[in-house]
Amino acid sequence: MLTKTKIYLSSPHMGGAEQKFVNEAFDTNWIAPLGPNVNGFESDLKSYLGNKHEVAVLSSGTASIHLALELLNVSKGDEVLCQSFTFSASANPIIYQGATPVFIDSEVDTWNMCPELLEIAIQDRIQKYKKPKAIIAVHLYGMPYKAKEINAVAEKYDIPVIEDSAEALGSTYYNSACGTLSDIGILSFNGNKIITTSGGGAMVVKNQEQKEKAIFLSTQARDNAPHYQHSTVGFNYRMSNVLAGIGRGQMEVLDERVKARRNNFEFYKRNLEKFDTINFQEESETVFSNRWITCIKTDSFSKREQIRLALLEDDVESRPLWKPMHLQPVFKNYLHFTNGVSEDLFDKGLCLPSGSNLSQEDLDRIIDIILKTPKL
Ligand SMILES: *Cc1c(COP(=O)(O)O)cnc(C)c1O
Repeated sequence: MLTKTKIYLSSPHMGGAEQKFVNEAFDTNWIAPLGPNVNGFESDLKSYLGNKHEVAVLSSGTASIHLALELLNVSKGDEVLCQSFTFSASANPIIYQGATPVFIDSEVDTWNMCPELLEIAIQDRIQKYKKPKAIIAVHLYGMPYKAKEINAVAEKYDIPVIEDSAEALGSTYYNSACGTLSDIGILSFNGNKIITTSGGGAMVVKNQEQKEKAIFLSTQARDNAPHYQHSTVGFNYRMSNVLAGIGRGQMEVLDERVKARRNNFEFYKRNLEKFDTINFQEESETVFSNRWITCIKTDSFSKREQIRLALLEDDVESRPLWKPMHLQPVFKNYLHFTNGVSEDLFDKGLCLPSGSNLSQEDLDRIIDIILKTPKL
């Protein structure tokens, strides 16, 4: 009997000249958090993002968010407004800084931060405490959030926005690349993301001065002196030249990866759209999603679980949508402004296998299982 292989939710997919760049690092002994691959990966990203921004590659997306908060002088006693429907890494760095998260729920169109709730929260905090120090909005599963509306609120109250674009490299909003839509953008190259360096991240900033500040802080904040001298607390957050080599190779295939993930989405949609119990995260005309993960929203918790468990039975990995931060035990005591949208998504939604390396055979196997769900 043939044993079926496990299908993962989103696994690494090499395919460019990754090994060539990694070998070059070895051959030239640039085994350090600086070198030609670090510079090369940064310039590849800069041009991919439209050449108007500067990029500093760092050790992870989480480190990038942490450093962004540091650049914005977020510290103890400050509040940071953070999208509740996200992965915990969006919010953890707020705690690292000794600051306080305030969670904001999503709207139904993009599943991302609701601009109306954002404004309500800002007004509430100004009235009862003080103006929040920053906003962290997230392009979840690659779907751009309503950046115009979010930025308009942010500008009205003069609060900077950190754009968590960890899942959205390759997505665009009114033809601008996600990662470049706000004050500071964040990317991730973790193993499950659309391209990977095994672990890594980047900060996208508006000018060279901010980039230099980010690099200074990420390399232990060394003053210009022959000895080791420090006037500020630094971090060890720079990306390794070895891993940046993987990144350079991955940049060669990024467009193909986006295409493959969008094809996955189209396949699932074609096969499931006839069921009015199943809904998708829909693009509006002005956005383009990299479709990092294809998500479905069913009409009940039990239907979602039926599908998830049937897939699991056949060694196919799927996962409920992100559990909102305001429901997480670790964040339960923080203030939140909610409307039920993210709780509903968490209850009924499922992430389907979405790797760019899925074969047609894999996709057929997955859809056959889903279509067998009773009363779909
Ligand atoms: C992956 C991810 C991060 C963290 O990135 P790492 O590189 O894994 O540290 C942050 N935010 C979101 C939304 C993510 O999906």
